[in-house]
Amino acid sequence: MAKKIVTIVGARPQFIKAAAVSRELIKAGIEEKIIHTGQHFDDNMSKVFFDEMEIPKPHYNLDIHSLSHGAMTGRMIEEIEKILLIEKPDYLIVYGDTNSTLAGALAAQKLQIPIAHVEAGLRSFNMKMPEETNRILTDRISNLLFCPTDNAIENLKNEGFDNFTCKVIRTGDVMQDAAIFYDKMSYEKSLIINQLNLSHSNFVLCTLHRQENTDDINRLQNIIEALNILSEKYTIVLPLHPRTRNIIAKNNIKLKFKPIDPVGYFDMIQLIKNSKFIITDSGGLQKEAFFFKKFCITTRDETEWVELVKNGFNVVVGANKDKILHEANQLINKTADFDVDLYGNGKASKRIVSVLQESY
Ligand code: UDP
Repeated sequence: MAKKIVTIVGARPQFIKAAAVSRELIKAGIEEKIIHTGQHFDDNMSKVFFDEMEIPKPHYNLDIHSLSHGAMTGRMIEEIEKILLIEKPDYLIVYGDTNSTLAGALAAQKLQIPIAHVEAGLRSFNMKMPEETNRILTDRISNLLFCPTDNAIENLKNEGFDNFTCKVIRTGDVMQDAAIFYDKMSYEKSLIINQLNLSHSNFVLCTLHRQENTDDINRLQNIIEALNILSEKYTIVLPLHPRTRNIIAKNNIKLKFKPIDPVGYFDMIQLIKNSKFIITDSGGLQKEAFFFKKFCITTRDETEWVELVKNGFNVVVGANKDKILHEANQLINKTADFDVDLYGNGKASKRIVSVLQESY
């Protein structure tokens, strides 16, 4: 039985995923030491999640951010290695596909510490995305691959993982665990709907931060133009990622509506639940739209969450202004039965912790 875990987090979606798993680790009496790499460091991108979601305070904060991909990953490996040598955990847990994920996995692998990868097996098949490299390499050196979907299992099979000495396990998605757990709490604590003077279903919730959109000005301009046109008809609520905000300002791109600062998870749940529909390039938000029975338009050229598209809950439109507007129009009277179990219905973290208990 694993008695001691070191967990690596660094970016916003990882705080949300770790919140769900940490709670189960505590219940199981497994000691957890959290390393926050510092990749996301603004209070509204980091601290707010630890406070609201009552995630145990990180034992180590590496404060590594605002560097190029290589420099950031390299410095993280160096610092994480030092801590692993002190802590000597039975397992290292890493989440998703960021530089923090890969750095943690590489540091552990070199020390022969077993790695558990939560959100294993996802693929966009777009090697231009830094996340795709991070997830492929992390999967390859992980010992326990916790897959959120059937499709993720399929992806690993296709890459020959049946022949490797690792365990591939379909657990469901820990983000659904978090959505279910914090739903009621967010209703009690969040004031955002009143603060922004929003009423039920009169607004469209958007996020825009993925490198393929922010670093390509053409794509960014197309998406913003579509949002500007939509803002004539709907209120647009856009909690703007700091990187996107800087690029928009630098390039003098005009918004016809006022974006808001990034919000905490409780506010986000309330925004999702009260929105008309969602336009996003976020991985997590595509699923959260589904968890809370909202349609989603995805401003990317592909998605890892293909089951949402297959079931008609999500359309992938790239950065094409006309397509975004066309799909937004299609959604006006669209209905669907969202009561399908695609992500395990809130039991993923329990499953992960029980496998960890059996695995050492
Ligand atoms: N999120 C949030 N506040 C915001 C924007 C996003 O709490 O202002 C949450 C969102 O609900 C989801 C997670 O952050 O749970 C997604 O993170 P992000 O879009 O940064 O990363 P991705 O999922 O694309 O990796």
